[in-house]
Amino acid sequence: MGKGVFLDRDGVINANVFYADTGEVEAPRKVADFTILPGVLEAMKQLAGADYLLFAVSNQPNQAKRKATAADHEAIQAKLATALDAAGIRIEEFFYCFHHPKGVEPSLSGPCVCRKPSPYFLNQARDAHGLDMAQSWMVGDRDTDIACGQAAGVRTIFIADKGIAGADHAAIDLRQAAGIILAAG
Ligand SMILES: [Mg+2]
Ligand SMILES: [Zn+2]
Repeated sequence: MGKGVFLDRDGVINANVFYADTGEVEAPRKVADFTILPGVLEAMKQLAGADYLLFAVSNQPNQAKRKATAADHEAIQAKLATALDAAGIRIEEFFYCFHHPKGVEPSLSGPCVCRKPSPYFLNQARDAHGLDMAQSWMVGDRDTDIACGQAAGVRTIFIADKGIAGADHAAIDLRQAAGIILAAG
C-alpha cells in the first residue's frame, strides 16, 4: 500500500496575504500575490524521496464570494505548477473545493460534499491510489484541516506559531513538518 501526505495550500505551501479591504489575512486573490513559502519545495522533495505521494487539498471559496475569478485561480495554479516542475516535484492530484455555503455566485454556493473538514477528497485519493491512511498525514494551518485529517484516519500536523488544535503534532512550517513525518517513519 502507498502512503500520502495531504497538504493544505494557503498558509502551508504559499503565504497568506493581508488585504486592506477586509482587514484580513487571506488566500491570495491574484497571481502576483502568490508566493511559495521558504523551504517548501525542499520539504516536498524530502517527502517524495521517502516514498510519500503528495496531494494538495484546498478550500478555495474566492470565486463563490466573487473575490477572484476562475482565470485568477488558473494563473495561480500555473505559477505553482511551474515552480513544482522546475524543482522536479510531482503532486499526484490537486483537490480544490470552490464552493462556499454562503457564497454569492449561485453555481458555487450552498452545501457541498467536498469542503474541508469533509474527508471527501482524502477518501477519494485513498481509493484511487491505494493509500494506507494509518501511514499517511495531513498538514494544515486551520482547525478544519486537522478535523479533515482526523475524519480520514490520517495523522495530523498543525502549522502555526501557537496552539496545536487537537492535532498530533505542531510545526512552524512545512520544513519542520517534513522532519516530523520522516522521523515518525
Ligand atoms: Mg490554510
Ligand atoms: Zn466543495
